[in-house]
Amino acid sequence: MNQFYTPFFLLFLSPLSSQVSRLDAEKIRKEGLENSHVMEHLDVITNDIGPRLTGSRNFERACNWAKKRFESFGLKAHLEKWAEWPRGWDRGQWQGRITLPEKMELQVATPAWTAGTKGRLLGELTLLPRSKSRLQKERKRLKGKILFGPVPSKRTPYGRQFLELVSKVGAKAILTPSKGDKAFPQRIRVFGSYRTVFAKKGRLPKLPLIVVRADQGKKIEAWLKAKKKVEGEFEIRNRWRKGPIPINNVVAEIKGSQKPDEVVIVCGHLDSWHQATGTTDNGTGSATTIEAARILAAVGARPKRTIRFILWGGEEQGLLGSFAYVRRHRQEMKKISCVLNHDTGTNWAHRLSVTEKQFPFMEKVFAPVMKLSPPDKDFQGKVFILKKVKSLGRGGGSDHASFLRAGVPAFPWGLTGRSNYFGRTWHSQWDTYDAAIPEYQKHTATVIALTALGIANLKTLLPR
Ligand SMILES: [Zn+2]
Repeated sequence: MNQFYTPFFLLFLSPLSSQVSRLDAEKIRKEGLENSHVMEHLDVITNDIGPRLTGSRNFERACNWAKKRFESFGLKAHLEKWAEWPRGWDRGQWQGRITLPEKMELQVATPAWTAGTKGRLLGELTLLPRSKSRLQKERKRLKGKILFGPVPSKRTPYGRQFLELVSKVGAKAILTPSKGDKAFPQRIRVFGSYRTVFAKKGRLPKLPLIVVRADQGKKIEAWLKAKKKVEGEFEIRNRWRKGPIPINNVVAEIKGSQKPDEVVIVCGHLDSWHQATGTTDNGTGSATTIEAARILAAVGARPKRTIRFILWGGEEQGLLGSFAYVRRHRQEMKKISCVLNHDTGTNWAHRLSVTEKQFPFMEKVFAPVMKLSPPDKDFQGKVFILKKVKSLGRGGGSDHASFLRAGVPAFPWGLTGRSNYFGRTWHSQWDTYDAAIPEYQKHTATVIALTALGIANLKTLLPR
């Protein structure tokens, strides 16, 4: 037997049977799990930069930083502008306390794109009437006061008319109780309408709308109903910033060595809501996208097709950044093999739904992933599940949906683990760095790197 002879049976075991050679897979595993930087990326995104509302200074800082970080791995990166807004909005500190009938520090929040208090606002609280007609009748009582009570949703015409009326009675601010929920009664969630940035100058909201934690709201309501004198002070530093404000996605890539115009997209949204630091929504997905790029660059991966890493803006306002990308790059959609989108928190990547046609391809791609150990030591079951589905559908609540609608195979990672994303951290005041689980983040970034390289190295594009 000479050194060039390979026994027939060994051919089936050779690294060539997988999309990522055994050696590369081992390098990626080692780099991703033993030399991870994923929590460092996340630390910068959430603790140094902070909340990243689309159109805010922080979002701009995050985009610039991410571009530089991609470049520091040796990737080509650029900011891709998809909108220009006439003004931006930034939040600062939010403070509130009750001074009468007893002292109580409040936990407060305000929806995005609403007014600040322009300094400290002191005032007496009074109950906000529940109907438009009572609002009209009680104008005198309300003037100069801080109005306390639930407000109808701005999304309904009645709600809009109601708030319009409130703004005309000469009140100082509205304080409204958060709804919370049964399992997390102290949870606060605030959103906001970005369309306000397009309002004419005189039409910007002037009346601060302050949300207070539900249990504290109940106390205030009880005092007011008992006809006690209630006074409070608030300082809400919300500021408008003159535009035009360019709004970007961040795009970086490792060029394909054989089919550079065919592309696998790895992505997550970089923007967040403004209340906390957008850790599980979606610092975690941004950090794994950046980390997957770092891992692949560090091991010197040479994918056949291009792997493009994209951090989206405007996801929280309705997938705006990814939708604009699909529209602008319409002609290239047929050459996008697939999109891997990481959103919905810090749990670890555990499932992907694929079609019958895609299944045999994905089985090959996921062979090295199947050899990883689950990041939960006591986890029972397979480390990864490929689930066959009839179709990938056209919907979804994150950026992959923009591509599905254009007929591109696009996958949201199915996650599992101990983090309670939807109940606890999602869009709440608790979405902070401590919510992220480091071993999950490392695992997911490694899975993403292996998968992206595997798909980029397939013989063909992934079947539609
Ligand atoms: Zn979100």
